[in-house]
Amino acid sequence: MVDNTSIRREKNKARDLRQTQWWKQRLAKGTCYYCGKPFRPAELTMDHVVPLSRGGKTTKGNVVPACKSCNTQKQQLVPVEWEAYLKTIQKD
Ligand SMILES: [Zn+2]
Repeated sequence: MVDNTSIRREKNKARDLRQTQWWKQRLAKGTCYYCGKPFRPAELTMDHVVPLSRGGKTTKGNVVPACKSCNTQKQQLVPVEWEAYLKTIQKD
């Protein structure tokens, strides 16, 4: 169980991390971490690989650029469905 205080703290950290050169460089590469397709930096969002609601933290190892479509799927699918989705989009 993750309490709201730590989620808020991690969200604040994410907001700060989005302002860093490190993150801007990742966006500038313009690739979605999940589907590997090219996007404009403005189309990519910061995604927590392990979601904050499951105890994930805002660390450089746990945040990746994701396109809107992957981000939406990840929010809507349960983990096992998400894994299956990843396999289908990463095949080629
Ligand atoms: Zn994607």
